[in-house]
Formats: sequence, structure tokens, C-alpha cells
Amino acid sequence: MEKRELLYEGKAKRLFLTDDENLVISEFKDDLTAFNGEKKSSEAGKGALNNKISTELFKLLEANGIPTHFVEMMDDNHMLHKKVDVILIEVIVRNIATGSLSRNLGIEDGKVLPFTLVEFDYKNDDLGDPKLNDQHCLILELVEHQDELDKLRRMAREVNDVLKPYFAKIGLNLVDFKLEFGKDSSGNIILVDEISPDNCRFWDIESGEKMDKDRFRQGLGGLTVAYEQVLNRILGKN
Ligand code: 5GP
Repeated sequence: MEKRELLYEGKAKRLFLTDDENLVISEFKDDLTAFNGEKKSSEAGKGALNNKISTELFKLLEANGIPTHFVEMMDDNHMLHKKVDVILIEVIVRNIATGSLSRNLGIEDGKVLPFTLVEFDYKNDDLGDPKLNDQHCLILELVEHQDELDKLRRMAREVNDVLKPYFAKIGLNLVDFKLEFGKDSSGNIILVDEISPDNCRFWDIESGEKMDKDRFRQGLGGLTVAYEQVLNRILGKN
């Protein structure tokens, strides 16, 4: 597969066209940003770790019947995937309260939620990714019909139903995560972007240690060591 011109550069990835109009290549960068780009850094090896973790998780989800954009991992920093029209809704799934949920609603940090919460954020850096309800999504024409919002929620819960027990088995609490979806060339809604410690929170079940991007957000250090630990557990190497 030939890597052609740069299509888009995001905070964590660059997207390249290929010689196949239905396929694109993501290059995972070592850059780190938080608080809507206000805090910036870079950690050597972070991009490769996220590419490898995402590859394993997309394969796991595909094996469980959840359609994703994943085609193959090309090398340490490159993933080949389907080209989609991205739906500009960040689907947030939460099992345990922390982060913006605790901050905004005063729910005790670390409280196990009575049921899995699914929320929508507007994928819009200029506006700071505000919360959306279904009517906002329809007024903004982020989807065509209510059915599609129902489908996003259903798919997000299916992802959680696969990932939560999977991570529990390797000693990690899947606290919360952000998913993105897109429409492929046939109009099917599929899971896109990445699934990595950059957009999931993982807490070690025994020690409570944070094994995700909160290490950077909260200035805890040891970010790549934690990401490598997540990958090693996934690969059964711990
Ligand atoms: P919170 O709303 O508590 O900040 O984030 C909830 C979950 O979604 C966390 O796992 C966080 O990593 C992820 N998340 C929410 N918004 C974003 C975003 O804009 N970028 C990334 N990488 N992750 C996000």
C-alpha cells in the first residue's frame, strides 16, 4: 500500500491518502495534548504503543462482531484502515465516576456507577467539546435520524460489554473511554479512531494506579511505562 499525500493532521495522528480511494493510513504521533490543547508534550514511543494497543483491541472487537475501520497494522507507527465520513460526536462510556463527570456533577471520584453511562460530546475543539443531547445532535445535523443516535449508544454498550470483562481479566478496571464512529462507503456505521490509554482510563484493580493519559494530565510521570504495561498485559507478557 502506497502512502500518499497528507489529508489531515490531528493532535495525536496524521492521516494519509493511499493508492486505494477506500483506504487511508494513520500515523500515530508521540505528541500528547490535554485540556483542549493547552498542555502539550511528547513522549518517545507513545505513538507506537497506542498503535499496537489499538490494533489488538480492534481485532478483539471485530472477533466479537463489532465492525471497525481497522484493516492492518503496517509498522510500529502506521495503521491501515477504511476511509470513512467521521460522525462529529464523541461517545463517552463510563463505568466509574471520575474526570469531568465528577467535576461537573459532584459525583464522588471512584464511585462505581449503578449502570453504564453513555454520553455524547460535540467533537469541536473551537467550542471545547461541549455536552450534547439527542436534540442538539439532530439540530446540528451530526446524524440524519434518531435511529443513528440509538445505534451509536447500542454499539458503545456492546464495546463496553466486550472490553470491560476483558480488561478485568488482565487486572485493569475500565473506568471510562471515548469512542468515535464513522460511515463507510456503503453508509454503515463503524467504530473508528483508536482505542488506547490516550482515550480510555484504566486503573489497576489491585493498586488503583492510573495506567492512562491521566498520568500526563495530572503530571504523575511514567506515562510510557504505564502504556507499555497495558500492552504487555494485553499480549499476556506481564
Ligand atoms: P472526561 O470527560 O472525564 O474528561 O473523559 C472521559 C473519557 O473520555 C476519558 O477516558 C478520556 O480519556 C476520554 N475523552 C474525552 N474527551 C476526549 C478527547 O477529546 N480526547 C481524548 N483523547 N479522549 C477524550
